[in-house]
Amino acid sequence: MIHDAITEGTVRCLLGSGDPRLRNFRLCNACGSCTPYCPARINDPGANGDPGYLARRVTAALQAGRRPEVNLADCVQCYSCETVCPRSVSIGGIINAVYEAEHVQPIFRRMLLDRGCLPSHAFFPVYASKGRLANFVAKVVRYPYRVDGRAADEVRSLLENPVGASAFSPPNGTEPARPLAPPDRVFHLRSCCAFNYPGADASQRRIFDALGVRYVTSRSQTCCGGAPHYMGGAGFADRLLLTARNLSVIQDLWGADDEIAVTGICPTCSDSYAAALELLSGSANRAAANEALAGIGREVGSPEIFSVANILNLYPLYLDEIRGLIETRLSGLRVGVHVSCHYRKMNGSLAVPPGLQNLAAITGAQVVRSRMEQYCCGGVKNLFDRHLSGHANELSRLNRLACLDFAENDLDVMVVDCPGCELVYDHIGIPVLHVTELLALAMGADPRETVYLQGHLTSLSPALGRIGLL
Ligand code: SF4
Ligand code: SF4
Repeated sequence: MIHDAITEGTVRCLLGSGDPRLRNFRLCNACGSCTPYCPARINDPGANGDPGYLARRVTAALQAGRRPEVNLADCVQCYSCETVCPRSVSIGGIINAVYEAEHVQPIFRRMLLDRGCLPSHAFFPVYASKGRLANFVAKVVRYPYRVDGRAADEVRSLLENPVGASAFSPPNGTEPARPLAPPDRVFHLRSCCAFNYPGADASQRRIFDALGVRYVTSRSQTCCGGAPHYMGGAGFADRLLLTARNLSVIQDLWGADDEIAVTGICPTCSDSYAAALELLSGSANRAAANEALAGIGREVGSPEIFSVANILNLYPLYLDEIRGLIETRLSGLRVGVHVSCHYRKMNGSLAVPPGLQNLAAITGAQVVRSRMEQYCCGGVKNLFDRHLSGHANELSRLNRLACLDFAENDLDVMVVDCPGCELVYDHIGIPVLHVTELLALAMGADPRETVYLQGHLTSLSPALGRIGLL
C-alpha cells in the first residue's frame, strides 16, 4: 500500500518541504554501512550483492527526484540505519516522513484527538486475535488509564492546529548529554503500552519504593506521541509538541530551579523526550514550539533542567542496592535479554549496553547470550500492520527468527526493556518479562497482585512454576 501510495508528487513535495528528516540524504554516498543492520532487509544485500542497495534504492532515488522502488511498508522503524550511518542520514526518518505524508494509520491519530493517548481499545485487536477477551476486559476494569479532560483538550487543540516539520531545524552541535546522577526524585511517565503490562508499571513503582526514590506522576501527562509517530499516526512536529507539552506539565510540578529526571518503562517514550530536549536546545526551535504551546496556555522552559532517566541507565546506578534487595533468587531460570532498537537509537549506538544483562544477572537467573540480544523483535508497527491486513497470527521473518533463537538456546524467558517488544514476544508465543517485572519478582513481589503475570498472553507458569515461583 505504501509503495503504491508514494507518487512522484509525494516525493517532490517532501523534497521541497524542508523536513528535518530529509536534512542530509544528499550526503549519502552509498557506502553501505547501514546495509547489514536493516532487520527488515529492505536493503537485503543478498538480492543483488550490492552493499549500497538500501542507499541506492531510497536516497539515490530521492536524489534523482524519483520514488524509491522498494516496499517501504516493510520498514519496522527501528532506526538502526540512522544509528549506524557515519553521515547521520536517516533512512527510517525518510520513510517516516513518507508515512506522515500519506496519513498512514489515521486510527491512531483519531485516538490521540479523542483521548490524548492510545487508549485501551487501541490494543483490543491484539487480544481478540488471541481469543483473550476476558484478559482484555480484566485490565480495562482493574487498570483504567485516562488522561484528564483538560490535558486531552490541549492535545486535541495542538493536533487540530498542525505545525509543519519544517518549522524545526536539526540540532546543531548540541552539548553531549550530562552523565546521569542518582536523582532524589523522578517523574514517572505512564506510557500507553503499559496497558498491556500493568505489572511492569507497578513493578517499577515497587522498585522505586524499595530504593527510596521518590516518584511523581500526573494525569495531565499525555502520550508523548512516540508510538503513534512510528506507526504513522502522529507527525514529526506532533510528537515534538506533545512531548514539549508534557515537559511543561512536569516543570509546573517541580520547584523552579530543581533538576528533573524523567523516567518510565518505555524506551520509545525515553527517545521522544531525548529527541525533544535535543531539538528544544536550539533557541529558534524552542521559540517555534512555544508559539504553538501558547495556543493552549503553556510554555516549555530551558531543556537543561531535564534529564532522561531511561531504566537501563537509571537502575545500573543502584546495582548494589538492588542486589541487596533480592529476596528470591531466580537461579535455574535461563533467560535471554533483548535490548530495544529505540533504546539504542536514543543512545546513538548499536552496541548492546551491559545494563540489561547485569540487571538480569543479579536476580540469579542464568543469562544466555543469544542473537535476539541485539536483533529487532519484529516491531509493534509490523504487529499492528498484520492485524489491519487480516493476517494477525502470521509471523513475520523477524518473528520467526526470534522463535528459532528462543528454541535453539533452550531459553525459559526473554527479558526486555520495552513494553512494545514485550507485546511482540508475548503475542508470538514467547514467555517474556519486562526487566522491571523480573527485578520485582526477584525482590519478592507478588507474581499475581503486583506483577500481574496472569495478564500476559503467553503463560509464564511453565517457566516460573519450574523454579517454584508460581
Ligand atoms: S545511508 Fe549512510 S550508511 Fe547508508 S549508504 Fe548512505 S551514507 Fe552509507
Ligand atoms: S528504520 Fe530499520 S527497518 Fe527501517 S530502513 Fe532503517 S534499518 Fe531498515
